Amino acid sequence: MSFSSQNFSPEIVKALSECGYEKLTPVQQKAIPLARKGHDILANAQTGTGKTAAFALPIIQQLLDKTKDNNHFQTRALVLAPTRELAAQIAQSIEDYIKYTSLSVAAIYGGVKMSSQVQKLKNGVDILVATPGRLIEHLDEKSVSLQNLEFLVFDEADRMLDMGFISSIETIMSGVSTKPQTMLFSATFSPQMNKLAAEMLNQPKRVSVTQENVTADTVAHVVYPVDQERKNEMLSELIGRKNWKQVLVFVNYKETANMLLKELKLDGIKAVLCHGDKAQSARRRALDEFKEGKARVMIATDVAARGLDIKGLPHVVNFDMPFLAEDYVHRIGRTGRAGQKGHAVSFVSREEELTLQQVESLIGHTIRRVEQAGYEPKNRDALLQKMHSKPAFKNRKTRTNNPSDASQGSAERSARLRNIVRNKATGAKK
Ligand code: AMP
Repeated sequence: MSFSSQNFSPEIVKALSECGYEKLTPVQQKAIPLARKGHDILANAQTGTGKTAAFALPIIQQLLDKTKDNNHFQTRALVLAPTRELAAQIAQSIEDYIKYTSLSVAAIYGGVKMSSQVQKLKNGVDILVATPGRLIEHLDEKSVSLQNLEFLVFDEADRMLDMGFISSIETIMSGVSTKPQTMLFSATFSPQMNKLAAEMLNQPKRVSVTQENVTADTVAHVVYPVDQERKNEMLSELIGRKNWKQVLVFVNYKETANMLLKELKLDGIKAVLCHGDKAQSARRRALDEFKEGKARVMIATDVAARGLDIKGLPHVVNFDMPFLAEDYVHRIGRTGRAGQKGHAVSFVSREEELTLQQVESLIGHTIRRVEQAGYEPKNRDALLQKMHSKPAFKNRKTRTNNPSDASQGSAERSARLRNIVRNKATGAKK
């Protein structure tokens, strides 16, 4: 299905063709006709599926179709997003779509000065993309008004709830007196999400893009079993040997990101950081360097990298397995976008085997394992056996369950292993 057959204004069609869009993606095929008829939408779709255009294009077309009210300074469409990066990216996409129209868009999010945003808002903005916290600050300052809101989008709504934005959303909604056409996009659904959807949406039409559409066809998943303390070394080796040119590496902690940056530098690999301690401007610079190929690796945490769109990104590495299996899907959603090939690599230590099982059951297939010569994990089988049986020792204080760990002098790892076994034992007694 092509964009030219969708009856969009010529200004929009021209802009889309400059973006390189020819055919609608599955979520666009399903959501655009319904949204253009004015229905509320409840969509189950991940980042990488083309969901931004799925909600933005019907809004843009309807804004062009309807004549503007007298008050030029009120926001007509609001898109709420969980993170700064995602908000900036959505605004950039919308900017691309509206470039031949008289409409305007602005992104407001924390980490940059309020004053520069106030100036933009004063000039009047048709489409506002915002993170909830910063929007509330602007509502308090009265630099923005939602009195005449016609369209409302919750993007990555699951992540907004995970980040505790529910009360911010309620505060924002208390300032909306109109009944805007509302669209909610989420990768996962929970009872809390269903409650939010029930409160916000009016007889919504449901749109769903299955996970197979998102990943299976275009992304090759691979697991490398490896001991935690050898992951640094293996990453450098794989990047070098396989000549990976652009690699987004996910870690669970900022500290790991900082450590890994130093290690890669020692191996002569230029990397940049994208995590919550970095100022907004530093993150943007890092992303630009990575996109332009000045840095070969970007090391990111989940929240900071949420929704990042890096065209044609070939490799994503889970240096740490994510805490939540759903985050695996979000992370690898950065590669294999818009039908291109992607490569999702996970480094899995013995402690992360359980998470891997959860990921495999979520995505519905087992992931190919590759043992990298020289990095085979020690005593993996013994550990797996122990995890699935009662502890074989009585005096936990004086024994570790894995003598080879003790001989390596890694007290921390032994303690972690003891915890796993202890939890297992407690569970077994219940
Ligand atoms: P999104 O899920 O909105 O983050 O979009 C993922 C990527 O797909 C972005 O780089 C979009 O620019 C791109 N994209 C969205 N729709 C299309 C389309 N119909 N054809 C080609 N690329 C698209």
